[in-house]
Amino acid sequence: MPAWICATCGVQYPDTAQPPAACPICEDERQYVRWGGQRWTTMAELGRDHAVVLREEEPGLTGVGVDPAFAIGQRALLVRTPGGNVLWDCISLLDEPARQQIQDAGGIDAICMSHPHFYGANVDLADAFNARILIPRADQQWIQRPSPRIELFDEEAEPVRGTTQARIGGHFDGAAVLHWPAGSDGRGALLTGDTIAVVQDRGWVSFMWSYPNLIPLDEATVRSIALRVGQFQFDRIYGGWWGRVVVKDGPDAIRRSADRYIARMHGQRPGR
Ligand SMILES: [Zn+2]
Repeated sequence: MPAWICATCGVQYPDTAQPPAACPICEDERQYVRWGGQRWTTMAELGRDHAVVLREEEPGLTGVGVDPAFAIGQRALLVRTPGGNVLWDCISLLDEPARQQIQDAGGIDAICMSHPHFYGANVDLADAFNARILIPRADQQWIQRPSPRIELFDEEAEPVRGTTQARIGGHFDGAAVLHWPAGSDGRGALLTGDTIAVVQDRGWVSFMWSYPNLIPLDEATVRSIALRVGQFQFDRIYGGWWGRVVVKDGPDAIRRSADRYIARMHGQRPGR
């Protein structure tokens, strides 16, 4: 039986004879059901007119996306380290050329996602590479396809030696980031999905409860996010889409962006 994939958010559900009645992730206030109504697909159907593309982002880091863009158009990131490989965020498709390329790059030891909009087909990918799946306990309710591979954690996990997946909250209670100390030529990289969103003006980021529906976060939560990532040393910030990268001075970008966001809430208009 096929495992159903929601065509709007790209999240995979269990393999059942009929698709689920609804997609709780899309029915949530932070997402939306497509205007034409709920639509389901499967990986086999998706693979007929889509392909996985892999592109080097920097040494040790490969972007993994779907072409043409599917669901929310995200690209995942394969972090390669001497202690093993982490797939950060996920996509809804795995085809044979990509499976081979990822295998040649050392496979996947752990899959971690920034939040439920990036869950994709994480169980299928974990099965293909015999990987663990790490999800913050705070988002347990959003798991749509259960698997014995899923391990829940509270605040921090170590997907492979030397990397840290940290819950920072905000967009979802379990919204998380991945700290990769060896990234950016050893200055460190922070992988954020859109838990912390790299915006068009790429020296800046933003923080939202909902991006498609433009629902902001509150001041205390934005401060808490900035504080929580302040513990990590990094330079670059990799957001969840191709090209969404703060290439340097990431901590300063988060600090400035949080200050600007909060100032706006108070009716102030700081310039840049
Ligand atoms: Zn959905």
